[in-house]
Parts: sequence; structure tokens; C-alpha cells
Amino acid sequence: MSKLNGSRPLSTVTRTVRAGLGADTTHRAVMPPIHLSTNFFFDAPGVYGKYDYTRTANPTRDLSAETIAELEGGCGAVVTSSGMSAIAVATRLLSAGDLLLAPRDCYGGSYRLFSAEANRGTYRVEFVDPWDPESLQLAREVRPRMIWIETPSNPHLRITDIAAWARLAREIDAICVADNTFLSPVNQRPLEFGADLVVHSTTKFLNGHSDVVGGTVVAANEDLLEEVAWWTNAMGVSGAPFDSYLTLRGMRTLHARSRVHEENALRIVDALARSDAVARVNHPSLPDHPGHDVASRQQTGWGSLISFELRGGRAAVDAFVDGIEHFALAESLGGVESLVTHPWTMTHASMDEPARVAAGIGQGLLRLSVGIEAAEDLEADLERALGRAAAVSTTPAAAATVLA
Ligand code: PLP
Repeated sequence: MSKLNGSRPLSTVTRTVRAGLGADTTHRAVMPPIHLSTNFFFDAPGVYGKYDYTRTANPTRDLSAETIAELEGGCGAVVTSSGMSAIAVATRLLSAGDLLLAPRDCYGGSYRLFSAEANRGTYRVEFVDPWDPESLQLAREVRPRMIWIETPSNPHLRITDIAAWARLAREIDAICVADNTFLSPVNQRPLEFGADLVVHSTTKFLNGHSDVVGGTVVAANEDLLEEVAWWTNAMGVSGAPFDSYLTLRGMRTLHARSRVHEENALRIVDALARSDAVARVNHPSLPDHPGHDVASRQQTGWGSLISFELRGGRAAVDAFVDGIEHFALAESLGGVESLVTHPWTMTHASMDEPARVAAGIGQGLLRLSVGIEAAEDLEADLERALGRAAAVSTTPAAAATVLA
């Protein structure tokens, strides 16, 4: 299909909605078919066609990868079996002795993988606070081979200046990788700010319906694409065709979903900021958020992840989750359904207690992934649950557990 509309290039929104339309010339199906076959015919021994074996390449997965690359503005992408396998592929570009510089409050699974690989000598890792300008100076001195960015961070929604870190990466010849899971390319495109690779857990916003676990690595240039594609095949972590199909289907509505996610999130931020039960709300849209200015520069939307600290600590958390109906107590994020997560006992439980404390994750902290339900239903539900948390917050014992 032509990528031009007259002489004007089509927008990414239109190209995403219409990815692969008309690809089926046999039956003239409007939507592209799904190719589940693990193997493809050879014309003769040793004569390879475009496809031979699905671990290496598959038409359905390729279409999904092309669409993700288009969304992120990359030269290509690999689609993997999970966000963690995408992260494992990206870090394969490190050799023994290389240093990986990663954020202290990165996703708990990334923290676990980086630490375990460093413990067995695959590479070295150092965790820093990348929003702190002193970390840039430290990086210049320790000369990492790879700089890992996760912005907004999990669960504090801290903002890292992608352009500043990408500039430094270029200066010291490091690879700059951004985990863009929390915002999706609708709200942030790290390659435009100089990142070399973007990774996603496509489990989240890109698929958007909480029914696929998947991942991707998007590359800024052909050399990096070739390397990540090689490792994806060698490690056998390419995504299944059926999952790729569902993710492609999900991506067609990404822009439309993102608008409602954000509208709802801004109303929830407002309700949290007004509540006496809440000690602090973390969302980059708030003018007093320390990363507000950087987020305004590098983000095209605020995103729908919010975290907040309840005044009543763990007891208030228990009262809140007990009283909430339309935010499911579950891990993950970015699906159409609203979720509430307790990082201390859930997403970040794989970090040991001192690491959680060092990352500022207390027992009173909750994270919301705001879905696309009717905003008024979410608001009413949240206010009821906050009322229960407020009742607990007034007991003196509760206050002691806020950061315990
Ligand atoms: N990166 C971030 C920011 C995440 O939140 C997650 C999962 O929650 C991952 C990576 C890992 O993705 P997956 O669960 O698809 O392996």
C-alpha cells in the first residue's frame, strides 16, 4: 500500500490503523491473515526464500515489528516473547567486563536480571539516580558501555532527561537504551532524543488488552538491528505469531486508547491531590513534580501511570485495596482495565528490602494504571476507597508505617 496520500506522507496514526491492510492477495481479505506455520517451503535444497523457519522470521511477526518501528521512528525492530526477553536481548550487546549503568528504581525484573548477570560476571552493573545531574558526572568518570534509561521510572514516575544521557552516551561511545514501556510511543519517542535502542514490554500499552505477554527492541540503525535480530534468533526468544497478531491488533487502537487513558488519569490525579488521605502524588503533569519541565520537553503526553503515598502507611493501603472495586489489585499496567499495585509486595518484591528502601519504595506506596472505563465511575470508586484509607490514617499507629 502506498504510504502517500497524494503528495503528503500519511501520519503514523493512519499507518498504524491500516498496517498490512490488503496484504492478502489470495483471498483479498481486508485484514492481514495470521501465519502460524512454523516452517515454509524451500524451492530446492539450499535455496532459501524470505521465510524458512518461524523462530528466525515470520510474516505476522514481521508486520508487528514494522508497525512498532514505525511508531517509535526506528529503522526496524525485533518482537520478543516478553519484555524481559527484550531486555535480555538488548543487554547481550554487553561483553564481560563492560559496565551497565542502570536506574536504581528501574522495573524490579530488570533490577533482578541486571544484578544476577553481574553476580555471575556476564557484565558489571552500577545503579544510579539518573534524574540527579551528579549521576551524569559520575557516568563520565566510570565510562559505562551501556546506559539504561527508564522514564518515567517505576514506581515513582521520576523523569530522566533522555537527550542529556544520549549526548553523554555519544561522547563516551556507550549504547543508550530507553525502556519506553510506561508511556508508549504515543507519549514519548526516545530515538528522537538520541537513544540507540528502545525496549518495551508490549504486554502493556502496545498490546493494551492484558492478554499477551510480549516485548520488542527497536533499533535506531541497521548495525544495531542486525545485532539484536541475531541474538533474538540465537537465544530463541522471538515472539509467537499468534501473540504478534494480537499485539498488532492492539496497536491499531493505541492512539485512540491513549487519549482516554490520559483524560481519565488527569481526573484521577486531581482527585488524589485533593484527598486528605494522600501524603504525596507522583505524576509528571503536576507542576510541582520535579521532572515536570523535562517531561514537558520530551513527552507528548503525560501518561496514565500514577503513584501515591497514603498517609496511613500499610494499614491504609489494606483499607484502600479492600474498598476499591474498579481498580483490580493486579500486576502489569497499560491495559484497558484500571489496576492498582502495591509495589512493596508485588512488582518490586524481587528487590531485597534494603534495595527497596534505597529506591524510596515504602509500604504506603500504591501505583495506579488508569484504564479507559468511564471517568466518573473510576473517580467515585477512588473517592470511596480513599475515604476508607483516611479513616485508618487518623490512628497514630498507622502513621508510623508510612515509610516502614
Ligand atoms: N519494563 C517495564 C518498565 C515493566 O514494567 C515490565 C513489566 O512490568 C517489563 C519491562 C517486563 O515486561 P514483561 O513482563 O513483558 O516481561
